[in-house]
Amino acid sequence: MSRRSRKRASNGQQGRSKNYGRTRKAKSDGDKTPESNKSNGRRSKANMVILLDSDPDYVEMESKAVVNYISGYNPMGFTLAGRVLSYISNPRNDGRIGLVILDIEMKDAEGNSVDTVLELLARKKNIPIAAVSSNNTSENIRRLLELGGLGLLPKAFTMEIFVRFVKNILRHGRSPAWQCNKCGKLVIVNHLDMLKMKPIRCTDRDCNSTDIIEIKFTRPAKG
Ligand SMILES: [Zn+2]
Repeated sequence: MSRRSRKRASNGQQGRSKNYGRTRKAKSDGDKTPESNKSNGRRSKANMVILLDSDPDYVEMESKAVVNYISGYNPMGFTLAGRVLSYISNPRNDGRIGLVILDIEMKDAEGNSVDTVLELLARKKNIPIAAVSSNNTSENIRRLLELGGLGLLPKAFTMEIFVRFVKNILRHGRSPAWQCNKCGKLVIVNHLDMLKMKPIRCTDRDCNSTDIIEIKFTRPAKG
């Protein structure tokens, strides 16, 4: 991480985060319509993708991925859990959030975890959730399933893998993921190996089991 991004991270992310959203917004100002005033049924503009990670490099990469490769959606990146809480609780943003992707194990610069964000999202059942994590434990998988999460992406990942992850969720309602039936950990699957029909092995070096099951992420009931 560069010294510059480290400094910005410690200053809190709101200013920087907003820029990502603004880049895209400026482009679409031409065909702007007052969506919020429309009264025909539910609003269809849930096009904001919230990205939360204590690592600003991940937030930056994920934001770029959404801006450049996920058409119709705008990223809103954060490194502080508190900022995401205010953003999601703000009534102005009701119906605007299409997806929240967070690092399920993060601790931000203010010492906060994602727990309060997850609690808020559990109450707002209509906001889809997905997670990334550098810790592929069965506990994290269970937690995400309980929350009605739609996907769990193991870190580290490239922008290409992240784009596929987000597109799967937005288009198909879930991103496929695999779990070792023996040790319970999330299995990092090499997609090329899958295409070649190679047997999937547990990525935990001490386990190496080939008893791999697909995780059943399902969209939570709209509430
Ligand atoms: Zn295993």
